[in-house]
Amino acid sequence: MTDFRKVIEENPIVKNIADCREIFWINPDCRERGKWNQGEEKLVDIDEAEARLLRFAPFIERVFPEVKGGIIESPLTEIPWKVISEKGSGRLFLKQDSHLPISGSIKARGGIYEVLKLAETLAVSAGLLKYDPETGEHESYASLADPDMREFFSGYKVAVGSTGNLGLSIGIISAAIGFHVTVHMSSDARQWKKDMLRSKGVTVVEYPDDYEAAVAQGRREAEADTTCHFVDDENSLDLFAGYSVAGKRLKAQLEEKGITIDKDHRLYVYLPCGVGGAPGGVTYGIREYFGDNAYCFFAEPTHAPCMTLGLATGLFERISVGDIGIDGKTEADGLAVGRPSALVAAAMQSRLNGCFTVEDERLYPYLAALKDATGIFIEPSACAAFQGIKYIEDEALKYSDIPEPDDNSVNILWATGGNMVPQAEKQAYYRRGKQAETLLT
Ligand SMILES: *Cc1c(COP(=O)(O)O)cnc(C)c1O
Repeated sequence: MTDFRKVIEENPIVKNIADCREIFWINPDCRERGKWNQGEEKLVDIDEAEARLLRFAPFIERVFPEVKGGIIESPLTEIPWKVISEKGSGRLFLKQDSHLPISGSIKARGGIYEVLKLAETLAVSAGLLKYDPETGEHESYASLADPDMREFFSGYKVAVGSTGNLGLSIGIISAAIGFHVTVHMSSDARQWKKDMLRSKGVTVVEYPDDYEAAVAQGRREAEADTTCHFVDDENSLDLFAGYSVAGKRLKAQLEEKGITIDKDHRLYVYLPCGVGGAPGGVTYGIREYFGDNAYCFFAEPTHAPCMTLGLATGLFERISVGDIGIDGKTEADGLAVGRPSALVAAAMQSRLNGCFTVEDERLYPYLAALKDATGIFIEPSACAAFQGIKYIEDEALKYSDIPEPDDNSVNILWATGGNMVPQAEKQAYYRRGKQAETLLT
């Protein structure tokens, strides 16, 4: 048994986390390329994942005609510094995963990838889809949307536990393929997400408890049923692989803009973190493609700082925010997670540069400022990233080995969700941001 009181007493940063103070933590175990935990061995094969997404492009385009070319990708948009309120160093971009097609959040990367892979595996092994992994030869995956294939897929089930957005992503793609899908929703999930899923024929089971309980229940039910595939947000390498493709795509996107990242043109990326899968997979991909010229930081709410806590104590998934007396309650519903993914914590220990925490009150003013300056709406969870760049401009890196951003730097705020939010909710969030702004000034 770990004595959590002792963990708090012995580590000043943990004491601050336990007191729900805003902190910026530099990861002392972050290493350069070649010295990452798995050494040269790769955790996931990004090229293979990307190739699979390409195979599915004709299917995606057939089922979701609005997705041009069948490629699920988001814009990288330069935004004015005034969103952060003061001029920072270098250029500032918003990676709009908030506007990813199909499910309007970063979960469209990992979630859709895992369900597509499942569909491919089932169809190939039943002899209903020709794909030769040796040569890469295959028939068009567009045929997977034929009625007889839907009939075939309807013999299988998919289940997932979620705070909301993963449920949306898994629910929508599974229903589009023809799987029977059940989403186990935690109490933090917003009502409109449950309503939207039900309208698409998804079974939604609600829990009075937190995310961890919803996932555990989903896992239990799926285990008892051999036709059911459980999407394990806490441990899935397929989810992780889907997210990691973002690193490769980002590199191409920057090159399109004439931007090359090297040691004189460094990349700084700020990513909101819940259980860790999405920002962890993206960070994995970024580090693979940009190596030691990229610096990645996770953003968490002061009331649900699970990855910060897991990494700062070195206890990973063996410590939860509840263990140090934090309630896990936050307006950032997508980040309302009390215990980090074991898989992701281990992968991030040697790859992530740091973590920071943000009070909920900061989210809405950023939401409103972004909307005012650019017309872009993102959800409160996605705004957690913004404060990180403020901390860094305010010398958070002063006593670290990490070079501070300069005029040549590229800064990316990873906007993780927002496009699916109903209009009335968008307006309410925005108004709240404007009110808070007035209170602040
Ligand atoms: C899920 C989610 C995250 C974090 O992803 P995790 O895999 O839970 O760490 C961040 N922002 C939004 C909007 C999300 O839905």
